Amino acid sequence: MSDCIFCKIVAGELPSKKVYEDGEILAFHDIQPASPIHVLIIPKKHIASLADAKAEDWPLMGQMQAAAAQIARELDVEESGYRVITNIGANAGQIVHHIHYHLMAGARLSPLGVHN
Ligand code: 5GP
Ligand code: ZN
Repeated sequence: MSDCIFCKIVAGELPSKKVYEDGEILAFHDIQPASPIHVLIIPKKHIASLADAKAEDWPLMGQMQAAAAQIARELDVEESGYRVITNIGANAGQIVHHIHYHLMAGARLSPLGVHN
């Protein structure tokens, strides 16, 4: 996907502050952190959202979650707690249409809910 910013980060065409990388997955700090620790975990393969993942992608989704748990361990937030979340579509606030898990930690996180 030539116009996808996360594909450009994967290709090294845009910079990122990497925290984890393996053959299929990349993780880097969010450019506009919404919590003291805010890391984005993405597959190198372009998949628009969880709703677009095919059966063949489920192992990759599992690898992303495993990477999230490993990163949390490495960033030493396992004990204090963290959140792993993925937004799907407009109402959930998905802005970048390349699937990503947000790993958020480092503070007491607000409850999940709705905007009034
Ligand atoms: P979404 O709202 O799609 O679930 O989350 C997209 C996230 O990507 C946002 O938290 C936003 O701050 C982050 N983001 C957008 N553009 C860039 C970028 O170029 N670099 C990095 N590191 N994060 C980005
Ligand atoms: Zn992409």
